[in-house]
Amino acid sequence: MKRPMRVVVVGAGPAGLLAAGSAARIGASVRIIERNSAPGVKLLITGKGRCNISNTASIKEFVQAFAPDGRFLYRAFSRFFREDLVEILTDNGVQVKVERGGRLFPFSDRAADVLLALLSWVKSAGVEIRTGTRCTGLLMHQSALAGVKITGGTIEADKIILATGGASYPRTGSTGDGYRLAASAGHTVVTPLPSLVPLVVKEGFVAKLEGISLRNVRATVISDDRTLASETGEMVFTSDGLSGPIILTLSRLAVPLLAERRNVVISIDLKPAISEQELQQRLIREMVGRQTIKNYLRTLLPARLAPLFLMLCRLDANKVISHIDIEERCRLVSKLKDLSFAISSARPLAEAIVTAGGISTREIDPLTMGSRLLPGLFFAGEIIDIDGPTGGYNLQAAFSTGYLAGISAASA
Ligand SMILES: Cc1cc2nc3c(=O)[nH]c(=O)nc-3n(C[C@H](O)[C@H](O)[C@H](O)COP(=O)(O)OP(=O)(O)OC[C@H]3O[C@@H](n4cnc5c(N)ncnc54)[C@H](O)[C@@H]3O)c2cc1C
Repeated sequence: MKRPMRVVVVGAGPAGLLAAGSAARIGASVRIIERNSAPGVKLLITGKGRCNISNTASIKEFVQAFAPDGRFLYRAFSRFFREDLVEILTDNGVQVKVERGGRLFPFSDRAADVLLALLSWVKSAGVEIRTGTRCTGLLMHQSALAGVKITGGTIEADKIILATGGASYPRTGSTGDGYRLAASAGHTVVTPLPSLVPLVVKEGFVAKLEGISLRNVRATVISDDRTLASETGEMVFTSDGLSGPIILTLSRLAVPLLAERRNVVISIDLKPAISEQELQQRLIREMVGRQTIKNYLRTLLPARLAPLFLMLCRLDANKVISHIDIEERCRLVSKLKDLSFAISSARPLAEAIVTAGGISTREIDPLTMGSRLLPGLFFAGEIIDIDGPTGGYNLQAAFSTGYLAGISAASA
């Protein structure tokens, strides 16, 4: 009888678990090695512990969301998509719900339930999970891949799947080991950069705004006087800059510009639902009577933002609103529509939700996730040079590439 294909998966994150489970289900003998003492450490903190597993967007929209390299993922999404993931989860006791923006979450709001369901799916296929075991190198025999080196030994295998994640949130185990392992096989590592990350601003006064969150505002990225993209929704001021959902999304565009040393400005429209003219009219209507401008502004802005905002508008906070002249009102309106911050940098990779960059997609076959350089080597998940927006896109990509790598590696 033919012996089963021996597959070693490096990394027990979402990509590694899907790779191992799918390979084992078509007859491979599969072992996962995980450096942490437990699998899925990063998965547990996703979606603030609620785990936004996927999105109701179509495959076409997913591919667009991963631009400019989204086409690379088309086959992986076609082979294993949201419905397949939901089936595995429901078969293993986890119901799923859809929230705003088409985001899918476990009904229980517990990432731990998703991990338990995936582990049950993987283990029932006969996969062995070896935790506390770090892969330190690829084992070669006469220029062919023969297994992996681990601390204090080796494991022989026919196929290796690297699913070691990116280099963000290194305390979860993804420290960039996979890049070094792949580079030892000749692979190009596109410089890892932070993505979905808070931005640091040049204006020191932002520290005074720390913790203030704004809803229904529009943030726009401007570089070299060109408007590049806008997002409307929620954001928050940090001790040194800007964060929150719309800023994280825009960081995907801002970080590469900063890396090219281009100038980047984020302009915040605090009243995006109305035009500048309408806002003028509203202020003309409302700015009558004896209250101070400081008190009036509380109807337009969070109270803590008002004093600093008035300082930026060069307005006396105690001035009575009916005494505000046209020029002052225009300054107020223009600042409400355009509160600008010059971006100096992004927060470090360690604080990014995902890593942009990684193993070049040009060296991976999108039909199999197999290396084009070293037969028997496969890649899955965030280790690959792909990164998507928030909303469940990155986890779905990890699951889909994991599944495809698994079935490809298990095949002869
Ligand atoms: C705070 C936060 C929240 C997030 N929320 C969401 C969300 O809600 N929705 C979403 O779609 N995405 C989210 N993401 C992104 C998502 O978590 C990642 O894209 C995803 O986990 C990538 O999966 P992966 O399996 O490729 O890598 P990882 O999850 O990083 O898993 C890689 C595994 O490999 C192991 N490993 C590394 N090196 C070695 C080695 N040498 N030997 C053995 N094992 C090794 C690591 O310990 C780790 O367990 C979030 C990320 C963060 C940081």
